[in-house]
Amino acid sequence: MELSIIVPVKDEEASVARFVDHVVPILEALDDPVASSFEIIFVDDGSGDDTLPRLADLHARDARVKAISLSRNFGKEGALAAGIEHSRGRAVIPIDVDLQDDPKAIPAMISKWREGADIVYGIRANREADSFSKRMTADLYYRTHNMISSEKIPMHAGDYRLMDRKVIDVLRSMPERNRFMRGLSTWAGFREEAVEFVRPDREEGESKYNYRRMWMLAMDGITSSSTLPLRVWSFLGAGIATLTLLYAAFIVVRTLIFGRDVPGYASLMVAVLFFGSIQLISLGVLGEYVGRILVETRRRPLYIVREGIGIDLDDPRVARSFDRRL
Ligand code: UDP
Ligand code: MG
Repeated sequence: MELSIIVPVKDEEASVARFVDHVVPILEALDDPVASSFEIIFVDDGSGDDTLPRLADLHARDARVKAISLSRNFGKEGALAAGIEHSRGRAVIPIDVDLQDDPKAIPAMISKWREGADIVYGIRANREADSFSKRMTADLYYRTHNMISSEKIPMHAGDYRLMDRKVIDVLRSMPERNRFMRGLSTWAGFREEAVEFVRPDREEGESKYNYRRMWMLAMDGITSSSTLPLRVWSFLGAGIATLTLLYAAFIVVRTLIFGRDVPGYASLMVAVLFFGSIQLISLGVLGEYVGRILVETRRRPLYIVREGIGIDLDDPRVARSFDRRL
């Protein structure tokens, strides 16, 4: 198997057939061994609609289209993990079903891969499809992330990318549950290339990423690749303590010279509230990390597979790390 395309789907009955019709001709037209040796693995991430029967139809029509059905909604990262771990391709490309990750970029990714790249990122050349505020928050996030973590993530690269089997093997050997893939692949130090693509509007249905989910993804990203938010408090505390000491000395001297000074309600109040909120923020940051430590120590599987369509779930050639069967 040369190439595995991994497509996480949640309530996408209207999009799956269109996706296959779009992508298969692109792959078949390739002047590369991939053209005759690829698989498209859909991961049904707990859809409540007819996505799974549609996938079964697609498999009946074309055996290269396969599906894994998860027992419930595990989120896109879990679905991607499931797809990647059950894939057999020498290269793997995770891609969104809504055609926002333009499949026309695949040939360019494959040629860069043949030239020796281990990872080929799909970089969004435009983000006009996203709302202004989403673009702003995404931009802010990428900048903050890269400023405070050693695991840089490329600007405007999402999950759409080609990864060589080497990369998959390294990913799989990582013991953590929260595998924030965008950062982990940089951590390993692979040969990276990028391919630009234009990101169009979503063709069908609604985006499933609201600001709450984006915030959670951002938190996962930062806490999984940087401990700076934890350590910054000791510096801040030391700085404030120094200032407080100077101020205390100043007050003592002033009291000795000018006598006791009773008024001071406002400054007192401001100081109390200020330090109160600083402490709450630092507690909150601590909580983010402790919560993730809890999740990691429970060592639960990343996803649970209910059934496979066209996929042998017990294939001994496929080494899975964190899955369980229902
Ligand atoms: N998706 C998923 N599980 C989820 C949410 C989304 O598998 O819980 C899939 C979805 O079906 C799509 C991809 O992830 O194929 C990207 O989702 P969406 O287009 O809603 O996100 P956006 O493009 O707005 O980032
Ligand atoms: Mg989308």
